[in-house]
Amino acid sequence: AAKAAGKSAYRTCTPALREEAVSRAELIADLRRAVDEGQLHLEFQPIVDLATGTVRSAEALVRWRHPRLGVLQPAAFLPLAEETGLILPVDRWVIQEACRAAAAWRKHAPEVTVAVNIAAAHLRRPDLIDTVTTATAVAGLSPHALTLELTESALIEGSEAVLDRLRQLRELGVGIAIDDFGTGYSALSYLHRIPATELKVDRSFVARLDAEDPRAYATVDMVNRLAAAFDLAVVAEGVETGAQHAAVTAIGCLQGQGWRYGRPTALPELLAALTPVDVTH
Ligand code: C2E
Ligand code: MG
Ligand code: MG
Ligand code: MG
Repeated sequence: AAKAAGKSAYRTCTPALREEAVSRAELIADLRRAVDEGQLHLEFQPIVDLATGTVRSAEALVRWRHPRLGVLQPAAFLPLAEETGLILPVDRWVIQEACRAAAAWRKHAPEVTVAVNIAAAHLRRPDLIDTVTTATAVAGLSPHALTLELTESALIEGSEAVLDRLRQLRELGVGIAIDDFGTGYSALSYLHRIPATELKVDRSFVARLDAEDPRAYATVDMVNRLAAAFDLAVVAEGVETGAQHAAVTAIGCLQGQGWRYGRPTALPELLAALTPVDVTH
């Protein structure tokens, strides 16, 4: 039984077991090949309109099917990818693949957009604009259907060049979401300079709504008001329970994401959820 448990833990890859199984250097070497060898894939998690349940968008989340370790979640390899610069080819692949997937689902659900996470390193690179314009053009996707998710820490270093790049993306029609909002160094002074279109309320705040924590409630309420004042959309992240759903709805958040509405899934399952059921026969 211990062996079976060990094996299943191994397959889901807890960090401790992973470190035993493969060294850091090996993992870096493996990651270097992962993009070219087609070992990455995407899952998509719906972002829904809280009033109607309609899927508005889907966030692309990267996974790595490691040849020996099984499927690795982002937390298991993105920190390493960021340290080594391998995050650049990884995210470039994610942007291309997500644009392609979105172009396909928009044939069934023309309004549904796609969100892609990008690491801070991209903002420092002049070729980000080129990556985005090429990926959307090749996929035949309108840049208006793409949102890039950035964290506060990525934005806060905001040099003039970075701000300029963000403005160029906005001019193309690309949306800019501030991910995990409230968890960074939240210098509110940066917010008015960033040409953002959306705030994503971090799931740590949403999680505490369950316990009827008045401070958590006040925090989500504050973010929602702030967003309204700045004319930004709001997405409540990590909504898992009915009580959390009720709370974020009562606060006035218009969009939500979380297990309550749908787990990250492969593209075919997302497509099935987006395609209206034929009731004519
Ligand atoms: P994120 O952008 O905040 O993405 C949301 C994470 O929360 C995802 O984890 C998702 O599976 C998880 N999640 C969604 N709903 C719930 C819920 O109701 N409860 C709980 N407990 N979790 C929920 P995941 O897929 O492990 O991704 C983790 C992080 O890795 C992402 O956080 C994002 O920052 C980063 N990431 C994922 N894909 C990429 C990528 O392609 N490029 C970059 N640069 N970062 C990525
Ligand atoms: Mg995100
Ligand atoms: Mg997030
Ligand atoms: Mg988050």
